[in-house]
Amino acid sequence: MDTKVVKIDKEQIDDEKLMEAAEILRAGGLVAFPTETVYGLGANALNEEAAKKIYAAKGRPSDNPLIAHISKPEELAPLVKEVPEAGKKLMEAYWPGPLTMIFPKSDIVPYGTTGGLETVAVRMPSDPVANRLIHLAKVPVAAPSANTSGRPSPTTAQHVWQDMNGRIEMILDGGPVGIGVESTIVDVSGEVPTLLRPGAVTMEMLEK
Ligand code: AMP
Ligand code: MG
Repeated sequence: MDTKVVKIDKEQIDDEKLMEAAEILRAGGLVAFPTETVYGLGANALNEEAAKKIYAAKGRPSDNPLIAHISKPEELAPLVKEVPEAGKKLMEAYWPGPLTMIFPKSDIVPYGTTGGLETVAVRMPSDPVANRLIHLAKVPVAAPSANTSGRPSPTTAQHVWQDMNGRIEMILDGGPVGIGVESTIVDVSGEVPTLLRPGAVTMEMLEK
């Protein structure tokens, strides 16, 4: 497969270019795109076959669950059974941004996305390209880092190209990304919110 690289100006996003990427996602293909943490490798999170392609392209073990990315808070409800109070507070404080939360999953989220778990990880990225792409795709987008498993997470489109060329349909080049650190993961599916992975949002910020 030929991997198409499309440059996107973050300051002036061209919806036409993003529509092409959104169509690929809707059709079950793979698109790498910038987020505020690292470059993500995106697929339709509601399509099990599409999620499988992420695991194949990355060489990622299929029991390692994916994070579903949404573009606005209203897109959370269809993916989860309930939004606990702690989840609501954290959403208000840190979405959009590098905070992932774990919720009990609804029936529309396939086990192929959650690694067989009854819970789903959801995040709303603040990067304007990521956010607009997900909005245009009209589906939640599963997106782990766009590198082969074991390699460093990519912060530029060139890094993604070196690793993923020929294995994915498109790379959206929005320039270097800021943080280079993965999202913080908090499990809000139980009684007490639990920090599962430290990241860009610190423990101190969460305790507040
Ligand atoms: P990333 O590698 O940044 O795509 O993040 C994926 C990581 O999020 C996984 O390796 C898990 O550690 C975590 N994760 C995703 N979904 C879940 C879930 N349902 N329950 C617990 N942890 C999860
Ligand atoms: Mg990673």
